[in-house]
Amino acid sequence: MGRLFIQYYDKTTAHRCTTCGTHITAKQLVNWIGVMGQRQPAKNYGDCINVDFSSDFEQTLSSGTYTLRSVYCRVCRNYLGWKYVASGTGDPGNKEKEGTYMLLDDNLEPIEV
Ligand SMILES: [Zn+2]
Repeated sequence: MGRLFIQYYDKTTAHRCTTCGTHITAKQLVNWIGVMGQRQPAKNYGDCINVDFSSDFEQTLSSGTYTLRSVYCRVCRNYLGWKYVASGTGDPGNKEKEGTYMLLDDNLEPIEV
């Protein structure tokens, strides 16, 4: 494994990993606020940085079946949420989620400035 290449968002809007402080995403990238699983607060983001992915897997969520990848912090390997890779059955509007990220509020925090 090579040296880690870490990118940064503007610190006034960045949301960082609660475990190690690495910038993961940013306030302006929030698409919507929702939940993951039963009731874990989460947000959907258009993009993120400094993360690694699992292999693709299929999962049925309340809105349909998707191909997902688990998202982990590249620095500390903390589980952050998932990426929507592709939408299968379900609402045609699910297509818009492809390429976006659903990340747990518990594992990200805004940087206090
Ligand atoms: Zn981390």
